[in-house]
Amino acid sequence: METLLVVGAGPKALAVAAKSHVLRKLGLPAPRVIVVEAHAVGGNWLPSGGWTDGRHRLGTSPEKDIGFPYHSTWARGHNGAINEAMMAYSWAAFLVEHGTYAEWIDRGRPSPQHHVWAKYLQWVAREIDLELVLGTVGSIRQRPDAAVEGWLVSVADADGGMTEIDADALMITGPGRSTKALAEHPRVLSIAEFWDLAGRRRLPVCSRAAVIGGGETAGSALDELVRHEMLTISVISPMATLYTRGESFFENALYSDPNKWSALSMQERRDVIRRTDRGVFSVRVQESLLGDSRVHHLQGRVTRIVEQGEGVALTLRNELRADQVHNFDLVVDATGGQPLWFLDLIDADAKDLLELAIGGPLTQSRIESAIGYDLAVAGLGAKLYLPSMAAVAQGPGFPNLSCLGELSDRVLRTAPVRSSARARVNVSALAS
Ligand SMILES: Cc1cc2nc3c(=O)[nH]c(=O)nc-3n(C[C@H](O)[C@H](O)[C@H](O)COP(=O)(O)OP(=O)(O)OC[C@H]3O[C@@H](n4cnc5c(N)ncnc54)[C@H](O)[C@@H]3O)c2cc1C
Repeated sequence: METLLVVGAGPKALAVAAKSHVLRKLGLPAPRVIVVEAHAVGGNWLPSGGWTDGRHRLGTSPEKDIGFPYHSTWARGHNGAINEAMMAYSWAAFLVEHGTYAEWIDRGRPSPQHHVWAKYLQWVAREIDLELVLGTVGSIRQRPDAAVEGWLVSVADADGGMTEIDADALMITGPGRSTKALAEHPRVLSIAEFWDLAGRRRLPVCSRAAVIGGGETAGSALDELVRHEMLTISVISPMATLYTRGESFFENALYSDPNKWSALSMQERRDVIRRTDRGVFSVRVQESLLGDSRVHHLQGRVTRIVEQGEGVALTLRNELRADQVHNFDLVVDATGGQPLWFLDLIDADAKDLLELAIGGPLTQSRIESAIGYDLAVAGLGAKLYLPSMAAVAQGPGFPNLSCLGELSDRVLRTAPVRSSARARVNVSALAS
């Protein structure tokens, strides 16, 4: 059986592992999915993951769960059965099993707290008997001189023991680390430091706070800061204003069903992403923040940070204006993940192959443009699935929670998986 190794046991890994489990139960070919996770299933939705304190709420509806939109179309004669079987791992099934479905409906379908979302993912993992390896992926290289290309992934466990896992295909998930801060200063916090201090009720007392960034990471941090005593809370982003995600049917439909995406020009795609995703707060975050007169927006890119008494002075740059300097006594770097974080794991030879496949140096835009229909880098012998970088080429919902069911279909329907499974059936038929 082909092996697909997934780095990180978040929603994407669970979506692919559950769909693979369902396909095999239905007698359809599917790879063995091994998930390597550094912390815990759903780790980035728990305080220990460094992206949240676990108490803030999901921005999107939890019904956009690991099977959403339950619309497999590629397995002729089996699509209905796949969709039905996947419902066993839905958010609603989770609530039914825990006896809280009616209460959730009666309370108006509230967005769950992040730690509850992690519980849902952990429940799915148990239900499908997820093949989980607890450890941190430290390096990735290609199988040397193998007739069939593949990946060798080395994993360090908590005791420092190393294992190397051989896989035919590899999928990278997650935003990377949350420990980076724009400057090394006790009043400039990375998002991991911020949540650590907030969780221990140790956030420094301050009067002028700034959050750098305009996405969900910044939204959750702001949601926390407004609960503290301070005079002003500035949100710093390069955009002209703080945009709210429209969440109209037309916008959401492009996220749930990315099939229309390929008909849009590059300019139109970037436009949709800019208006609906990058630097945009969810409606819920905006609603809770707009009512607070301490919160305001400062436009600009932070180009300089210098110590200023107890706090720091930030220089903000805007193209058509002179630089502006603002003083703060607490700054949170909430600029979010680093899309290319996984390149640090990949060895030089594999990087060379990746460069050959994408036709030049490994830049974000070049990799994004090279993501194929199956969410893997086109032109690479061994499959490398990068759904978090698939927005521009394949659809804005793939990096987030908007169409995890479609994501798993795209990954699992790939020709090698099915044709090699057919080939094995033929070989074993010949042998018998
Ligand atoms: C605070 C916050 C709120 C968000 N809210 C929403 C929302 O409401 N709706 C939405 O659509 N999107 C939201 N997002 C975006 C969200 O990150 C993605 O939608 C989605 O979680 C990504 O899922 P994933 O499976 O790729 O990764 P993650 O859930 O991020 O999981 C990645 C996993 O990889 C593990 N890991 C990392 N490095 C290694 C390594 N070297 N070895 C082994 N394991 C490793 C981590 O421990 C983690 O468990 C939010 C993001 C943040 C930061």
